[in-house]
Amino acid sequence: MQKKIAFYGKGGIGKSTTAANVSAALTEFGHQVCQIGCDPKNDSTRLLLGRVCSQTVLDMVKQYGDALQAEQIVHTGFGGVHCVEAGGPEPGVGCAGRGIIVALEKLTALQALPEEAVILYDVLGDVVCGGFAVPIREGYATDIYIVSSGELMSLYAANNIAKGIARYAARGPVRLGGIIGNSRGIANEHDLLQAFAKRLNTSLVAYIPRDRIVNKAEIHRKTVIEFAADSGQAAIYRKLANFICENAALTVPTPMTFAELEEMVLTYGDE
Ligand code: ATP
Repeated sequence: MQKKIAFYGKGGIGKSTTAANVSAALTEFGHQVCQIGCDPKNDSTRLLLGRVCSQTVLDMVKQYGDALQAEQIVHTGFGGVHCVEAGGPEPGVGCAGRGIIVALEKLTALQALPEEAVILYDVLGDVVCGGFAVPIREGYATDIYIVSSGELMSLYAANNIAKGIARYAARGPVRLGGIIGNSRGIANEHDLLQAFAKRLNTSLVAYIPRDRIVNKAEIHRKTVIEFAADSGQAAIYRKLANFICENAALTVPTPMTFAELEEMVLTYGDE
């Protein structure tokens, strides 16, 4: 059976880094893993491949049309992780969400992903654009995790994503698996994220510290799991990967108004 997971969150919050480390940990545990980057920057799988993947699904569809083979769009990364980049239009041209639809339909048509696998979609966007909702709207992903720091705008995006999940949960299997806290080191960040998660009818499933080892691994084009396998940070990513595999507490989120969110951030952050 496939386990179909997606990571959502504000731009630059740490989705790809967290996803790549979780994928690397899952492959260590012996799972078949696919990471699918749904971001026109196509850098989701860089830490797994040790390079930016330039053979995106959209580019390869353009180049090869109906002659396209699965091997041309599924690339092998660290520990055998299957890496895919959906691709997208050049900045300022066309619709990135539309690109995701074409790419995911192509992967399905080519049966490019293993039957027994953990599929991890790494999606840019706060679901304001319907295109970025495609992985959840079309049932590609069912277990959604939101990566957020305690910063107001990150929580704002997370709350919007929760609204999107609540909308699609009403008519399908999509559920919220939890909030993954990726620390920015602000005041009372852990407690704020915990309260935020609880208010959304979910839980804070990890609190990942900000650590220079992540940046060091990044400049070496590696995950922390590969670059610093024995570090505390690697242990945190492994624990999260294990949790995601076992998690049965998937919920329909209960998002809040912006005014309520502002109030919550003020309560915790005003030091
Ligand atoms: P985008 O939306 O642009 O795809 P993203 O949400 O995928 O971004 P990343 O590219 O994963 O974000 O991370 C942004 C930057 O933050 C990277 O330079 C990454 O190394 C750094 N970073 C992420 N998590 C941590 C952490 N826990 N400690 C230190 N640095 C981190």
